[in-house]
Amino acid sequence: MFFLYFREDLRIEATHFLENAFLLIVKMLEMEVEIEEDTSELVDELLHSIFFLGRLTYQFFLPERIFEGSDLLDDLMSNYPNAFELYMSHVPRRSPFSCVLDMIVHLIGQENVELIKEELGQLSSTLVQNDNSKILNSTMVCISWAESVRYYGVSMSTHHKPGRQIVIAASCLNFWDDCVADAVMTYCPQKKKKKYFDGTIRLPAEVRCEAFNIRERRSMPPCVSCSDLFGLQTTETENKSPYGNCAEAESLSKLFKNENVKERVQRSDNWNKQDRTRAEQDVLRHLKQVLKNNQHFEWNNKEINFYIPHARLDSEEDEDFNM
Ligand SMILES: [Zn+2]
Repeated sequence: MFFLYFREDLRIEATHFLENAFLLIVKMLEMEVEIEEDTSELVDELLHSIFFLGRLTYQFFLPERIFEGSDLLDDLMSNYPNAFELYMSHVPRRSPFSCVLDMIVHLIGQENVELIKEELGQLSSTLVQNDNSKILNSTMVCISWAESVRYYGVSMSTHHKPGRQIVIAASCLNFWDDCVADAVMTYCPQKKKKKYFDGTIRLPAEVRCEAFNIRERRSMPPCVSCSDLFGLQTTETENKSPYGNCAEAESLSKLFKNENVKERVQRSDNWNKQDRTRAEQDVLRHLKQVLKNNQHFEWNNKEINFYIPHARLDSEEDEDFNM
């Protein structure tokens, strides 16, 4: 009886996943045509990340199912063939909503903080929620800055544990700035602080971080995890968020990659490269194990391939034509 209930529950959840995937993809395509520069890489990355999570979570998932009843499929398959071919063999480096966030920031402009929050709030409220799990949806946005340019991040839009573990590990190994990755790897993949490695950081005084609940449209204090990782002051006492799940990781990573503030980041006194490599190996080993346990993921059991997005194929043809 429980099994039957569980199957039905999962089927409903999968339907919501397909609906939300379709909404996000359509939204991305609409935004992409409005932006003058070529942002099609973000569409490619979104597609792959959604397909990967769909396949990981629901064994009957096929990308085609997202597009049933619409005529988008053929165009997308010919413009973004890699996303359709590599979603079972390549790991996404970030979660889907993060690609959507980047497109929104491109469209609206990083300086328009309130408009970006508003857009995120509207988009988030159109997505279907399944009980308490926010499928392909982020709860939080974080805005980080040192001078005038604002950098944005969202919390992981992965609603099941293996998906979240995989994307956090992939972001640590292949996407985030090393300061952020070090802080997260101090805990990840376990919840406890590693005895041999402390990569937690303290931010320079000029760096600001503001977290905002997208759906409830209100400011939030940093959580205990973010306080542990980045030294953010908080009034929270209960640790509810997995390390690396929060929006702060992404916005700070972008800030560190783009602004000259990293030399003023305080690292722990006993940080060293050797221990960092060991922590990285630990994250990698765990990632491989999680992937190995997932029968839908196809790989050679050796190297992990991370998905590198590409611009839409016909946009490259356009460029050739213009030459
Ligand atoms: Zn947090």
